[in-house]
Amino acid sequence: MTFAPPARASFAENPETSRGRLREEPPSAMRTAFARDRDRIIHTSAFRRLKEKTQVFVAHEGDHFRTRLIHTIEVAQIARSVALALKVNEALTEAICLAHDLGHTPFGHAGQDALNECMRDYGGFEHNLQSLRVVDELEERYAEFPGLNLTFECREGILKHCSLHNARELGELGERFIKRQQPGLEAQIANLADEIAYNNHDVDDGIRAQLLDLGALREVRLFRRQYDAVAAQYPQLGERRVIHETIRRMINYIVLDFIHSTQAQLDAARPRTIDEVRAQPKTLATLSAGCREEHLELKAFLREHVYRHYKVLRMTTKARRVLQELFEAFFKDLNLMPPEHRAQASQAEAMHGAAGRARGVADYIAGMTDRYAILEHRRLFEPGERT
Ligand code: MG
Repeated sequence: MTFAPPARASFAENPETSRGRLREEPPSAMRTAFARDRDRIIHTSAFRRLKEKTQVFVAHEGDHFRTRLIHTIEVAQIARSVALALKVNEALTEAICLAHDLGHTPFGHAGQDALNECMRDYGGFEHNLQSLRVVDELEERYAEFPGLNLTFECREGILKHCSLHNARELGELGERFIKRQQPGLEAQIANLADEIAYNNHDVDDGIRAQLLDLGALREVRLFRRQYDAVAAQYPQLGERRVIHETIRRMINYIVLDFIHSTQAQLDAARPRTIDEVRAQPKTLATLSAGCREEHLELKAFLREHVYRHYKVLRMTTKARRVLQELFEAFFKDLNLMPPEHRAQASQAEAMHGAAGRARGVADYIAGMTDRYAILEHRRLFEPGERT
């Protein structure tokens, strides 16, 4: 039986003309190169660990909040819908989404900031670069190569942003930052889908955590419009269903705008090939000016009412302290780390000095789930705790 592949635009990334993998491999008998990338990502331990990493709320503090795994799946869902509507490669889009947060530390952005601070004298820590490091080096799953040996297009999509300094060290992969080129549409879609997913699910989680109430949320145009429509249409409906229906409609509204606005940009720019997508002065994946403004309003609202809520700040301050203390203890004495991580850090130190040693410690910490980081911290600092 044969399946007709979906009709794709001429500017879509094409697995047949991929720039290839770092190490050449025979093609898969049943999957395209991009579908294979996606499947490799799903089988990693870094992917599984996303289930116990925080998005905003510490992962074990409630079963109702999104973890990074759920966030990742929601991003992939939104991006795949947009990719299909715009006739670009949905398997590559999905692969980029599934890998986009693999390099995240425990405790969300607070964790990343803390680790970056610890690594200040050793090249810094950036979760984007770390995601790439996970798929290129840290995963140990294949006999023939370290990492996952993903296609160039997938690796490029994972590297969302990057300093010029780091871009120069990344060779071909860093080129687009130096030449100020755009990535493929698949990567652009994944990137915007990420923002849409978290802004909307943080409304839901914020309500569940009782940080947000409907009165405050009705200040936000995007929310108010959909909420008022739902409440008028279903005056008898219970609050939970009203809220979920409202958020569902918000996502739908933004995603439709995303598709129409990007299609309008494509119609105007008329790229015929992927190279013409890359040469555009700005990204083609976009929201309309009005929708973007409303989306930014929602983002600013969440920053004020959720991310800077005193209860969240208490959590993130604690989290930062946990990571700082772990880093200091391990960096001072590598023998406190489990043998394989100790060996990796010592090896890196032999090659790159203190920066290598620090990177080995950062790799160990970045890979931890929230729960594991808290447990390691207890084992190191609480005398009564089993080690
Ligand atoms: Mg994300």
